[in-house]
Amino acid sequence: MDCCATSSNIEPAIANCPSCGEKGKKVPLITLKSLLVASFLETIEPDNPYYFCPNSSCNTVYFSQTSSQTFEENALKVHVFQKNSDKDVPICYCFDWTRDRLIQSVSDNQQPIEHIKDHVQAGRCGCEVNNPQGACCLGNVTAYLRSLN
Ligand SMILES: [Zn+2]
Repeated sequence: MDCCATSSNIEPAIANCPSCGEKGKKVPLITLKSLLVASFLETIEPDNPYYFCPNSSCNTVYFSQTSSQTFEENALKVHVFQKNSDKDVPICYCFDWTRDRLIQSVSDNQQPIEHIKDHVQAGRCGCEVNNPQGACCLGNVTAYLRSLN
């Protein structure tokens, strides 16, 4: 008999988005609780795993295969970087680095990555309650800065 493999903790870490087929990572439930507007929050099934679709050409932000649910950007209190190309959308949600601010920082010769890393290392970030992807933004910030060059 397996000692630890109860059905509730063998949810896969990755699942395919039902809208576009791309792989989505599981997000902590606290992320949905923090970022969904009330009318959508009232429909979640807390026992089900929820996943984040990172595909910028797909409208689905969160999905649960178990409950056949999908949530789009209008279900969230914030704009979603991966789904919204506006310049005032944050990439780093904790410390409010929007595309605009990052573009400005490059022309001002600032070091946004170092700035964000310092705060992360000081234990000040709250990605799981601020960032729709429920995880650290640094990969996205790095990729965006690279795209500006
Ligand atoms: Zn998708």
